[in-house]
Amino acid sequence: MLRFPLKGSLMVEMYRLPQEIKLTGEFPGPSSRALAHRRSQAVPASVASGLPVYAADADGGVIIDVDGNSLADLGAGIAVTTVGASAPKVVQAVQESVTHFTHTCFMVTPYEGYIAVSEKLNELIPGRFEKRSVLFNSGAEAVENAVKIARAATGRNAVVVFDHAYHGRTNLTMALTAKVAPYKKGFGPFAPEIYRAPMSYPYRDDQSMDGKEAAQRTINMIEKQIGSEYVAAILIEPIQGEGGFIVPADGFLPTLVAWAREKGIVFIADEVQTGFCRTGKWFASEYEGVEPDLVTTAKGIAGGMPLSAVTGRAELFDKVQPGGLGGTYGGNPVSCAAALAAIETMQDLDLNARALHIEKLVTAALAPLVDELDIVGDFRGRGAMLALEFVADSISKAPHPTAAKDIAAYCQQRGVLILTCGTYGNIIRLLPPLTISDELLKQSMNILIEGIRSVS
Ligand SMILES: *Cc1c(COP(=O)(O)O)cnc(C)c1O
Repeated sequence: MLRFPLKGSLMVEMYRLPQEIKLTGEFPGPSSRALAHRRSQAVPASVASGLPVYAADADGGVIIDVDGNSLADLGAGIAVTTVGASAPKVVQAVQESVTHFTHTCFMVTPYEGYIAVSEKLNELIPGRFEKRSVLFNSGAEAVENAVKIARAATGRNAVVVFDHAYHGRTNLTMALTAKVAPYKKGFGPFAPEIYRAPMSYPYRDDQSMDGKEAAQRTINMIEKQIGSEYVAAILIEPIQGEGGFIVPADGFLPTLVAWAREKGIVFIADEVQTGFCRTGKWFASEYEGVEPDLVTTAKGIAGGMPLSAVTGRAELFDKVQPGGLGGTYGGNPVSCAAALAAIETMQDLDLNARALHIEKLVTAALAPLVDELDIVGDFRGRGAMLALEFVADSISKAPHPTAAKDIAAYCQQRGVLILTCGTYGNIIRLLPPLTISDELLKQSMNILIEGIRSVS
């Protein structure tokens, strides 16, 4: 297998665009400002964007805007362009595929790409049992369908989700998502039979509580407030994304899985953000040997083309009536071609090793800040899914959202695209494309550190 070259100079030939931060003058520039004006007349403000500039091109770790600014991308379109935004194999596969047919609908005239992607998912997703996969378009759609499958298979209604969870913006997934603003405010009524349980949050939990105890706290809540015999599914992100890159304490997930299995509850891992090499393994569930009954995937799956999936135990899918799952566009043939090429790219470049290399680089740069600066409460994450939590001070641990916001703005003004997240908005999250060069990543870390120091 081709190892990912660790020296940036060796990687130059991998890229179509120069991997550099370059600002051409005003930011946003005149072309972006003109588009912003057109946008204000055509698109409602309810669709918000993190950056005031408009994309023209993207490759590896950079996005070029319409004024020629070259920005370092530490967001990857929210963990989507793991292989880069124009990975050669993905581009080629899309071009090849689209010349044959754009769509037939898998429910009308099926095609091989859908089967090939399903075979790949069944092979890569953890679980030593017979699996099946169904393909959809978005993460939310995959999550909704996982819940449908769990309910049909168990004949039960209740679904347990967690504090800080994010599962999407459709009606059912809004109910599953924890944070009210901006995701749910004004959009109710929400779907019933959703119960929110306490998450293991090592930075904010009682320091004496280990993962098993945190799981027991959740199990007690379920038994007292719902009754395990009514629970169809426990749905959890193995590392919470939008909610703040919260990595549960060791033992939390395995304890919950063991209990769910004993009670006939379907354990669903939402790996929409954590999947496909993001954390240094194919799926974050692998870190503790967790074998979920169902896994939802999307984001990194297809190099930016819309595709999502539910993968899991064949016998659960067998309980759903023929025709019960599907959708017009689910498993679009061009997206399937892109997914196969993206997965091949992950294998060719060993992007799991690359994610762990990024973890090492970023940890060396950022972890020391926790002891050094009082506002840096925590540094956490796995692989190339890493975050800093900002607090007013290390004693109160009061969330400090303005720090995260000001730091992100500082970075943006200097050509580094950085995202925030968290229930309290006080987290800076790093989700670079795994094909970002070491040089660009180091340069971006220096700017981020300057930003943190300037706000501290
Ligand atoms: C983004 C995300 C979703 C929703 O995916 P969409 O494609 O935006 O519908 C669901 N679950 C998790 C964990 C996510 O990060």
